[in-house]
Amino acid sequence: MKKIYLLAGLSLLASPLFAQRTLIHCGNLFDGVSNTLQPQMTIVVEGNKITALQKGYTAASGQDRAIDLKNKTVLPGLIDMHVHLESQTRRGGAIDGFTSNPADVAYRAARYAKTTLLAGFTTVRDLGGSGVNVSLRNAINAGLVEGPRVLTVGKSIATTGGHADPTNGYRKDLMGDPGPEDGVINSPEDARKAVRQRYKDGSDLIKITATGGVLSNAKDGSGPQFTEEEVKAVVDAAKDYGFAVAAHAHGTEGMKRAIRAGVQTIEHGTYMDDEAIELFKKHGTYYVPTIIAGKTVADSAKHFGYYTALVTPKALAIGPKIQATFGKAYKAGVKIAFGTDAGVFIHGYNAKEFEYMVEAGMPAIEAIKSALLTNAKLLGMETQIGSLETGKMADIIAVDENPIQNIKTLQTVRFVMKDGKVYKQ
Ligand SMILES: [Zn+2]
Repeated sequence: MKKIYLLAGLSLLASPLFAQRTLIHCGNLFDGVSNTLQPQMTIVVEGNKITALQKGYTAASGQDRAIDLKNKTVLPGLIDMHVHLESQTRRGGAIDGFTSNPADVAYRAARYAKTTLLAGFTTVRDLGGSGVNVSLRNAINAGLVEGPRVLTVGKSIATTGGHADPTNGYRKDLMGDPGPEDGVINSPEDARKAVRQRYKDGSDLIKITATGGVLSNAKDGSGPQFTEEEVKAVVDAAKDYGFAVAAHAHGTEGMKRAIRAGVQTIEHGTYMDDEAIELFKKHGTYYVPTIIAGKTVADSAKHFGYYTALVTPKALAIGPKIQATFGKAYKAGVKIAFGTDAGVFIHGYNAKEFEYMVEAGMPAIEAIKSALLTNAKLLGMETQIGSLETGKMADIIAVDENPIQNIKTLQTVRFVMKDGKVYKQ
């Protein structure tokens, strides 16, 4: 007891005396708050925090370390609200569920996490896997694996045969009858149990698959798969644990039920109609478009054998529609949160989504901000991440050009710092 006390005392004493400052010299700085770039700025980082933003290039002294980004544009680490770090698309990948052990999934997930971080995404929301994603988050937090800060749902919640029923398309004797523990529910009572199980598993938030989906080996890609009562039970139970609820939805009916029941975000939103748009605005629900996922699945489906016979027609029908839906939703005033569905496309290409958002009519500055403070607020982390301000975590990236003028520059990130540690330079 005494020894522990003494050690704690020593480390407290040691930190201010030997604190090393990192001075990041930024050619241009986009702080994520103002709409303009500030030329020639210095970000002062101590430990994992930003302790000052100074005009000009502050000279290093004593133990200070200077990082030269004088020919770069520096901005806050990006936030993606929809990734799947456990998996990555590949031709014939439907077999993976039968051949991969959790350890195989874990090794691959570690690689995808690092790729994501090096692409400039310092925080992500993992919207569903087998539960390995919970261990991945813990390993990253413990410094065992390099990756973004992860908030994860663990396993998505579905209904029997629905998108995210883990045994969809299996041979009958392998199907079994998964229940709330496996994230499959069929009543409000089941819904509450499934949410509580996610709490027990260590999830950070809840995801439901409110309608059919593209990549599940099942016929329907858009019909409603939860009753409104079931979604409401999920949302109410989630509130008890401080969990936000994200809802995957392509079709209008399932989307509307989810919005009315109080979910925080709608993912994909493909067949959003005018009534759905009004509901988004009325309830303050955010739309996470995932345009890049739609485009990628439509493209992959053109290659014979890439997906199963049930998945291919859904990918061709649903995929190409998302970008137009996004354009319509944005213009109608629906609130947009940046998210990509990485894993459905190759990890690391997340920033291509910005290009598609701008192409559909959203100004570059708004697209970038949708991946910063907007997402930080939805994660309840706006005092820690999402902008470069004194007191916030040092999540800092740099690109070659001004992204407000050339959005594509975000696809080549040159420098990545997360939590005060440099991962790419
Ligand atoms: Zn997804």
